[in-house]
Amino acid sequence: MASEDTGRLAGAWHPPRSSLSVEALLVCEGRRFVVRDAAGARLAEAGVASVEVSARVGSVPRRFTFADGSLFETVDNDTADLFLRSAGARPGGFVHWLEQFRPRLVVIVLAVIVLAAGVYRFALPALVEVAIVVTPPVVPQLMSQGTMSTLDRAIFSESTLDPTRQAEIRAGFGEIAARSEAGPEAFALNFRHGGITGPNAFALPDGTIVITDELIELAGGDDDMILGVLAHEIGHVEHEHSLRQLYRAAGLAGLVMLIAGDIGSAMEDILAQGGGLLALSYSRDAEREADRHSVDLMLAAGRDPLAIDRFFARIEPIIGNERTTSLLATHPATAERRQAIADYVAERTAERP
Ligand SMILES: [Zn+2]
Repeated sequence: MASEDTGRLAGAWHPPRSSLSVEALLVCEGRRFVVRDAAGARLAEAGVASVEVSARVGSVPRRFTFADGSLFETVDNDTADLFLRSAGARPGGFVHWLEQFRPRLVVIVLAVIVLAAGVYRFALPALVEVAIVVTPPVVPQLMSQGTMSTLDRAIFSESTLDPTRQAEIRAGFGEIAARSEAGPEAFALNFRHGGITGPNAFALPDGTIVITDELIELAGGDDDMILGVLAHEIGHVEHEHSLRQLYRAAGLAGLVMLIAGDIGSAMEDILAQGGGLLALSYSRDAEREADRHSVDLMLAAGRDPLAIDRFFARIEPIIGNERTTSLLATHPATAERRQAIADYVAERTAERP
């Protein structure tokens, strides 16, 4: 019968401070544990709650320690569990803890999930900002030089643009760069023939800005359109979008390594992945920010703030074309985006007297 099986537990009894071992039975009488020898004589007795029961760990013998120091030991762990449960004692072992505290476990698991989500939502952006602050200026310089020389070797060739035309665009660029927070010295404009990248403009984190002959040709003499695009690229530099994007891609572990002082090897990895910068595409928010920057700089320079929007209108028919370049692919001229530019221009021009 089950009640008999769980009502008594076979094992050995050890008197206090003695190496003696007596074959014994542990029984539960009322709310008391009683140890009896084979003849039924009482060897030890105590209230259930006062007996210390060891936790179940694999097949290690279970120990019941009485207040007088005597010990009952059994290798029959399964029966011991049933015995303890029927005696209403605290069952040992982690599994029992789980069974007993399932609601608490659910709460703990939920808390961990919420915490992990919080780390990604809040800690990651915060760490990105810290990483940007601790990045020595030489790092963006090295990354930019590496990227530029890779591009010059693999994709670009020398610009075929007429030097007079180059000088005109450079003068206009100087005007808008002068309105930037970092000042004109913070930026260097480079002309290149884009080759397979076609019409293109981009900025590297050290302030190097590149525009291709093909993009200048696409603008068809609309210099404000060219400058609007360049002002947008200045925006990417001033808001440190590429470093930010790079650090976000490095993830939590990479950032912790980088900030915790292992800057050397973490940075080496980033630098070694020379193409890393090129593979990045800015977030939608970063693009919006650069668009607004273009509007601000163009307004400050007394030029057409809607020029960047005209550029998007110009490239719209080209998007979806097989030869879509990286610039066009990473600068989708969605209606939403163009509307945001128009709204911002309206807002900014309304502020002006
Ligand atoms: Zn952009």
